[in-house]
Amino acid sequence: MANAQQVLEQVWGYPQFRGQQREIIETLVAGRDALVLMPTGGGKSLCYQVPALVREGTGVVISPLIALMQDQVDALALLGVRAAYLNSSLGFDERRAVEERFLTDELDLLYLAPERLRAALPLLQQGMISLFAIDEAHCVSQWGHDFRPDYLQLGVLSEQWPDVPRIALTATATVQTREEIERRLNLAGVARFISSFDRPNIQYRIVPKERARESLVRFIEAEHAGDAGIVYCLSRKSTEQTVDYLNERGIRALAYHAGMPPNARSENQSRFLREDGIVMCATIAFGMGIDKPDVRFVAHLDLPKSVEGYYQETGRAGRDGLPSTAWLAYGLQDVVQQRRMIDQGDGDEFHKRQQSLHLDAMLALCETAGCRRQMLLAYFGERAEACGNCDNCLHPPKTWDGTIPAQKLMSTIVRISRAQNRAFGAGQLIDILLGKKTERVAQNRHDALTTFGIGTELDERGWRSVVRQLLAMHMIEAHGDYGVLRLTERGMEVLGGRQRVDLRVDEQAQLSRKNSGGSSSRKTPTGALAELEPEQLVRFEKLRAWRREIAKEQTVPAYVVFSDATLRELAVDCPETLESLTGISGIGRKKLEQYGEKVLAVLAGTGD
Ligand code: ADP
Ligand code: ZN
Repeated sequence: MANAQQVLEQVWGYPQFRGQQREIIETLVAGRDALVLMPTGGGKSLCYQVPALVREGTGVVISPLIALMQDQVDALALLGVRAAYLNSSLGFDERRAVEERFLTDELDLLYLAPERLRAALPLLQQGMISLFAIDEAHCVSQWGHDFRPDYLQLGVLSEQWPDVPRIALTATATVQTREEIERRLNLAGVARFISSFDRPNIQYRIVPKERARESLVRFIEAEHAGDAGIVYCLSRKSTEQTVDYLNERGIRALAYHAGMPPNARSENQSRFLREDGIVMCATIAFGMGIDKPDVRFVAHLDLPKSVEGYYQETGRAGRDGLPSTAWLAYGLQDVVQQRRMIDQGDGDEFHKRQQSLHLDAMLALCETAGCRRQMLLAYFGERAEACGNCDNCLHPPKTWDGTIPAQKLMSTIVRISRAQNRAFGAGQLIDILLGKKTERVAQNRHDALTTFGIGTELDERGWRSVVRQLLAMHMIEAHGDYGVLRLTERGMEVLGGRQRVDLRVDEQAQLSRKNSGGSSSRKTPTGALAELEPEQLVRFEKLRAWRREIAKEQTVPAYVVFSDATLRELAVDCPETLESLTGISGIGRKKLEQYGEKVLAVLAGTGD
């Protein structure tokens, strides 16, 4: 029986295990159950793939991600691992062939869609099973967004195979989900492996929303030209508009949303996975199980509904561990819109209250002057130091005493409510403070208010920033279709002079000017290309071009051939012999045999 370390080196070509992989693998090899909570990109697949190779029999993997099974099996085949899948996409003959291989013990791994489990039980009974892996285990949670009723049947595994170890894996961090997984999958006494959910290679950035698509383009051009990325939009329409906007500016973009015909959607998904440097503009329907490791940035043009959603979505960047960016543009309108969606939604009061709390936490993250990562991790119950790799750590925002402007705004709200028994939105209130004689101001006689024109120390942008921050601190609240603003109890404290308000200086003005100074500031490569010497960059590009051709020939995604991290190491070390190629992380036995000579030729400059 091979040991785990040997399998890792010979099959995957990786020198060592990451994080808790070794302990998890040892647990399974010893025949015990494991529950694994690990962030996206943490390396969950190896946790069951390695023990499936070490133990006798076939490892059965339950996964809801049918669309990815082919790619997973192809990727394993390139490593010399014998894998197959059973799902609804197979014809009768194909299915029989897979069953035959399973029964004759010619499979290391068998992927199974949960809805096929019941039908597959008699088959499974006749073969030899090394372990069960339950991927995306949070799908068993009835409260989660990804609930799959078929997952509830998975309890049967422990009844019928009490001696076969099971491993449940998820990237969902909350305690409730974890408890539900253990209960529903009968995992009493399971060994738990809970990793830190920090993603140190992701840089978090949240900017005020002003001409969002324009700043998105500036961001991409300055830092991620030619990189693959995901842009999340709230609506289908804005998804399509963003695609057009980016394409017109020479950025290759595709759309993905639930309103598209299924084949157009999967065509776009497959191009995103296979081709280099495509930007996917998508609603949140896109993403679960996107295995693409080299997504270099995730951008949000609209505010996510919760911190958890934000974390999951941004987590799709940088699975390969290379530097990546999470970029979010957020504005007042987002708050108004989401408040309205909550108020007018069809949930009960309890549900609405929950959604409100989610929105508040998200706003607090947007408006904090402290470390974003620290706050994000605190949300999942983890304590962390300030990270040094988020916008606030890199450019600490200055704060100022905003009590007086806050009081001016609040007193305007209160005066109008007394005089007219009505409330207005941010736009009207700001017009009043700035002393603008608009038609609406005249109609409502707002120029007669004592606060009319007393706010000229700030401009409109400054006032919007104040409003956003007061909303985030729950001193005012937005209501209804127009997002009319009302005071909260906390706001009353401020108005009464009993509480001081510290606000962050909105640096967007300076930042956008700095960035658009474009031509003089030379573009510095980021992600996989960061800090490469010129000749290394050339080698990387050559390797990438070669990889693209091979991937096309073999109809697999490029990263399945070699990851960016592997190309990077090749470009830096520039090995000249097959022997020295084995020292490169990601080149195992099979890939050395298949690609070794070609890679050497590309590096020696005779590859094309
Ligand atoms: P997850 O499923 O947790 O999101 P994956 O299993 O897809 O993560 O792994 C993410 C990436 O990290 C993959 O490209 C994988 O090959 C790589 N990886 C995993 N474990 C190791 C390791 N021990 N050494 C080097 N690379 C690893
Ligand atoms: Zn930080």
